[in-house]
Amino acid sequence: MRIVAVRDALVPLGSGMRNASIAFDAMTASALALVTDRIVDGKPLVGYAFDSIGRYGKSGLLRERFIPRLLAAPSDSLLDEHGVLDPARCVQAVMANEKPGGHGERPGAVALMEAAAWDCVAKLAGRPLWQVLAERYGTAAPTRRIRVYGSCGHFRPGETLDGLATEVRRARDSGYSLVKIKVGGRSVAEDERRVCAARDAAGADGRIAVDANGMLDPAIAAPWLDAMAQHEVAWVEEPTAPLDYAALAVVAARTPVPLATGENLFSFDDARNLRRYGGLDPVRDRIQVDMLLAYGVAEYARMLDDFTAHGWPHSAFWPHAGHLFAAHCVGAFGLGAAEAAPDATLSYGGYWDDTRVENGLLELPDAPGVGFEHKANLHALLAHALET
Ligand code: MG
Repeated sequence: MRIVAVRDALVPLGSGMRNASIAFDAMTASALALVTDRIVDGKPLVGYAFDSIGRYGKSGLLRERFIPRLLAAPSDSLLDEHGVLDPARCVQAVMANEKPGGHGERPGAVALMEAAAWDCVAKLAGRPLWQVLAERYGTAAPTRRIRVYGSCGHFRPGETLDGLATEVRRARDSGYSLVKIKVGGRSVAEDERRVCAARDAAGADGRIAVDANGMLDPAIAAPWLDAMAQHEVAWVEEPTAPLDYAALAVVAARTPVPLATGENLFSFDDARNLRRYGGLDPVRDRIQVDMLLAYGVAEYARMLDDFTAHGWPHSAFWPHAGHLFAAHCVGAFGLGAAEAAPDATLSYGGYWDDTRVENGLLELPDAPGVGFEHKANLHALLAHALET
């Protein structure tokens, strides 16, 4: 088996929304295709990967370093003992001559290459990715039926609380019983109004979580956390700057509300520091490291092993974004839940066309690989951008 071409494309995703920390006007994402010499159903086998949303595309890193290294590697060095592409060996090849530490945005580019290799491997096996991953990593409790939650409620120019409520209602009507909204972290009263509007829209069975994107003002942290506890939010996400573990530990000791963080940690080293110094509780809190931004599944499996050895259950892991790929990982490793933008009309929103979210649960499809081919708008985007 041989990789004959690697194509990447920068996909513009600009929109007028923002969270407490950034605007999305110029947001981009990377799409990647590994084209192999294997023929499946009369066509060359292609493995796809599509970025997590929110950290910009990685074309520079891919084109300057990682794609050339993968193409230059001897074909045999990328294969397992059965002569099939080995995603871990692909990562080894692209990481040649990279210094440890200082991970920057390199892990996202590397993870895309690993993800596309996994799509190839699972397609070649004719099986859905979650099954292939569960087998490869020997996970204890893989599951086809996964929990998902909807993420929405960004800030938009001129938007009212009615707009926020409409968005939460739509998510609820699309089957998401747990919905996360953005909050500003600058005013207790303002954020309380957002939570109340969202909670009313979510209905009696719905739950609301809040995401401060690292911007909670320390001057109002105490009353703000008390208010969130009173409103019984499902969790508070990124109350503090992502790498400030000491500040997080102060918040963790101060509030009974579940905390969630980790989406801006891109390596095993960083995740372990979060475990060591973030003051988080394995029973109460959630780890949101995103395998698609953090070197891929092999690195993620190391994190799971490290946390598990220190009393953390797999159910405490709720990966950020990652879309279809992350949903397979949630099933493969028996993780807590996958995050989704609930609007399926977006290329990066919703799930496979032939699946439905019901009461916050989703059944992973039978399609081989990640199943990009079974989400028509995303597949059209990939096929066009990558000329496959
Ligand atoms: Mg977040």
